[in-house]
Amino acid sequence: MSKKDRIFIEIIVGLLLITGAVYFFIKPRRESVWLSGRADVDSGKRVVMGTFARVIGVAADSDTAKRSIEAALAEITRVDELMSDYKEDSEISEVNRDGFERAVKVSEPTYEVLQKAVEFSELTGGAFDVTVGALVDLWRSAEEMNSVPSDAELAEARSRVGYDKLILDSNEMTVRFAAEGMRLDLGGIAKGYAIDRAVEAMQTEGAMGGMIDIGGDIRCFGAPPEGKERWRIGLQDSRAVGGEVGQGQILMVLELTDAAVATSGDYQRFVVIGGQRYSHIIDAESGYSGGELTSVTIIAKGAIEADALATAVSVKGVEGGLALVEQRKEAEAILVTSAPEYELIKSSGAERFIE
Ligand code: AMP
Ligand code: MG
Repeated sequence: MSKKDRIFIEIIVGLLLITGAVYFFIKPRRESVWLSGRADVDSGKRVVMGTFARVIGVAADSDTAKRSIEAALAEITRVDELMSDYKEDSEISEVNRDGFERAVKVSEPTYEVLQKAVEFSELTGGAFDVTVGALVDLWRSAEEMNSVPSDAELAEARSRVGYDKLILDSNEMTVRFAAEGMRLDLGGIAKGYAIDRAVEAMQTEGAMGGMIDIGGDIRCFGAPPEGKERWRIGLQDSRAVGGEVGQGQILMVLELTDAAVATSGDYQRFVVIGGQRYSHIIDAESGYSGGELTSVTIIAKGAIEADALATAVSVKGVEGGLALVEQRKEAEAILVTSAPEYELIKSSGAERFIE
């Protein structure tokens, strides 16, 4: 097999209409096998977690690569079934319905993601807060009525938000709310968590490398594409988004090995009230969205950290967000400020990941 025949993988992190996040594509083929005893298999786009997912598996043979991809997708689907607040029969929906009345028993993954969510709340001084559901709902209905919530409405919703009011019992594996009407919203962390679990599932199936993308949150591990030294990920320029998936310009290309990248932004997911745009990411303290940053990209070791930090930095803004990232040795940030400046700001160690 000639070198030309080898799969050429190009990954572009871009915007998805539904998620406002990022995605990558691979061309030109779905599967390649090498004489050298490795196979790269690409799942193509699959719809999971209300967005597109894509998995690449690298293994000694194509059966193993395919099995690892299916294991990853099964794990992602499982996480979604447990944690979606859109699905009425999910564990998170059960907690949201009954969590004030009684301690709700949950499975190990749901308990683990909530524990990690609380850790990130503590780390970020509450900028990341998985109990933000009441405020998210308030802004959604404000959009429907085309009127900004009143101070009284904001205060009422804020009284039902706060990770300090989330009671986790590790012995019983139960979850309980200390305030009536609280609601969990895992939108800022579930994708990252699902990716990390899916990477484990792939490794268990024998993959020696791979990449998982859920709606633009990405983690790559192990062997990069054949002929490359690293995984290449293009960051789409949030200033040049044409509205079509992948149509924007590339801001920069990241080169990663064993790392995750997540992007949060206000540029495609937002609510519009009276012609004014409000981000879907809300500061639990004020009840409003931050608005200082158009896009926040975080590079970290694990996808859950990249995901949670991207959401938190969106709330904290440039100064607080950079201070947070600089504290974390293995995390870096690439920020784009809001219009009209659209200033590009990088954390001190980000350059080493930029091509
Ligand atoms: P992401 O795209 O990862 O930044 O996640 C954004 C989603 O997280 C929103 O659509 C909400 O569902 C949820 N969310 C909003 N504000 C917060 C917050 N302050 N902390 C945690 N999750 C949030
Ligand atoms: Mg996030």
